[in-house]
Amino acid sequence: MLTLKCQPKTGWHFFYKYFYRMMNKIEHIGIAVKSLEKGNDIYTKLLGEAPYKTESVASEGVNTSFFGVGTNKIELLEATNPDSAIAKFIEKRGEGLHHIAFDVDDIVKEMERLKSEGFTLLRSEPFKGADNKLVCFVHPKDSSGVLIELCQEIK
Ligand code: ZN
Repeated sequence: MLTLKCQPKTGWHFFYKYFYRMMNKIEHIGIAVKSLEKGNDIYTKLLGEAPYKTESVASEGVNTSFFGVGTNKIELLEATNPDSAIAKFIEKRGEGLHHIAFDVDDIVKEMERLKSEGFTLLRSEPFKGADNKLVCFVHPKDSSGVLIELCQEIK
């Protein structure tokens, strides 16, 4: 007879732990820069390769560029206007690590799970971010001071 060493929790915990993969991997790390041109120069030198794409996300007021590092990515983000979240971030904290993004299979399910765990989501619906992804963000006050992005590839 099978004996369980510990009683599994019910609800989300049990379901996700045994039947569903939550965060697949770190999809990218986002770095806020004052100038994308300068940032691109620095990271091209650092990584030995130019960004594989640059993209503007008008709704978020950002220009982005993406660098491949093995199976990981680095995203640089530059504000396009003073009201953009990136401009405010740089004003408060200077350039630097802005967010860690996790790849998920089902962003809506993950948002529900995180909400039920007490995390604060910055928006109630996923929205289209850079690099062909649906994205949402978790408030850094709930994740040890680091902004967390969830992203799901748009197929
Ligand atoms: Zn990102």
